[in-house]
Amino acid sequence: MIRVRLCPSPTGLLHIGTARAALFNVLFARHNNGEVVFRMEDTDKERSTRESEKDIIDGLKWLGIAWDEGMEIGGPHAPYRQSERNDIYTPYIQKLLDQGNVYHCFCTAEALDEERKQATEDKRPSIYPGTCAKLTSEEVKERLDRSTPSTLRFRVGTKVIQFHDLIRGDVEFDTALIGDIIIAKDIKTPLYHLAVVIDDHEMAVTHVIRGEDHISNTPKQILLIQALGFEIPEYAHLPLILNADKTKMSKRKNKVSLNEYRREGYLPEAIINFLGLLGWNPGTEQEMFTFDELVQQFTIERVQKSGAVFNLEKLQWINAQYIHALSREELMRRTIPFLIDQGYLQSPKGDMIEAPEYIITKSGESIGRDTLAGYIALEQERAKILSEIPPAIAFCFANELMYNPALLSWKETPVDGTRDMLEWANLILKDIPDDSFTATKLEEVLKEAISQKELKNGMVLWPLRIALSGQQNSPGPFEIAQALGKEKTLHRIEHAIALLPLK
Ligand code: GLU
Repeated sequence: MIRVRLCPSPTGLLHIGTARAALFNVLFARHNNGEVVFRMEDTDKERSTRESEKDIIDGLKWLGIAWDEGMEIGGPHAPYRQSERNDIYTPYIQKLLDQGNVYHCFCTAEALDEERKQATEDKRPSIYPGTCAKLTSEEVKERLDRSTPSTLRFRVGTKVIQFHDLIRGDVEFDTALIGDIIIAKDIKTPLYHLAVVIDDHEMAVTHVIRGEDHISNTPKQILLIQALGFEIPEYAHLPLILNADKTKMSKRKNKVSLNEYRREGYLPEAIINFLGLLGWNPGTEQEMFTFDELVQQFTIERVQKSGAVFNLEKLQWINAQYIHALSREELMRRTIPFLIDQGYLQSPKGDMIEAPEYIITKSGESIGRDTLAGYIALEQERAKILSEIPPAIAFCFANELMYNPALLSWKETPVDGTRDMLEWANLILKDIPDDSFTATKLEEVLKEAISQKELKNGMVLWPLRIALSGQQNSPGPFEIAQALGKEKTLHRIEHAIALLPLK
């Protein structure tokens, strides 16, 4: 049975790299009918927070990433938070002490810092010089009796560690370059390397799939695994995620927290699609993938070795495809929170986002759900992200549009000509019954009338569009008229006519 682990450290908001690693683990597990364990790696007490845990869990759930046991749902290896597993770790740490793999290190933080500085000055790697490795058991006992603070250090020794990485092939490390490492604060409190190794063993993890930044940790962990007599799991180190300039993805050049993409109105299914292609490709031209399609096609063999560039335009393009494909109703449901956030709608109560009959605008007007869906649909073809939609349809909500009346005139048309065109269009539109006030019908009727009168489209349609939207760039006049409905459309045309100065 294949078992993988999601094991974020709660030291910040959910990072894109963490989400990608979680996704690849889940894809691999599901593709192979395996299981997913989710544990929280909070051994770094100073930097770990519950807010970060919440952000990570919420973010993964929002993406639709699910696990079979672990945080929140429990399971046979509970607890799943490392800081609550001390009793589980103690016997293993004791075993390492008894076997002599681990020794007490009494070096102070200051002394170690000093040594690090010296190493940098001498331009040599900073390796623990082994000061406490040579203490006799009497010396150790004496210091412990005096309660001298200590940590537990693992004898790394000098050998060559080889392992086969499922993505990178054979990897070799010379442990002489590592030096003895601190693996626990005390008998109950392991640090990262040891906690990972014990938990992977306890939780029967078969495959460790993680970012390439962990590859240099692997030899240390393998040494611990060997010392404890555990089975070595399979390793797969995922390619780094890079900025467009091929440097390691960083906050300065990209948004790195999933939250930011969520807030801008990227859809979870689009992000999954995009992350799935961040270092993996199907070997075909296919670019659009549902989660299930990714599961079906995902194999580790098709994960690339070289860094994966985070291409924001591609993410936007994928997101736009998903926005286009939503039903009107679904697009409305997903856009409402953005309209509320940006102050166009009042926060609906309770489940109104799910099923509002009427929605209250900021100015206290109530509009029907169908009308709102119509406004939002105006931008469906154009929007790349949901947060772009509210400002683009803001003109729909206004009672009285404010704009410079000079905008109404098409090219060089004089004011009188523009007024004539609007009055004429108004008469024609008035005759169209409410229930056939659709973009298609309006276009058919108006264009027919324009051609009969031997006018140019722009002479009528430009002022009409400005009258309806008040802005230079907007969707077409027929679509807007349909979205606004007959009453609001005629009102806006009359308002425009009134704005045009008389001779
Ligand atoms: N907790 C580690 C991190 O968040 C992951 C460790 C691992 O995958 O082995 O970077």
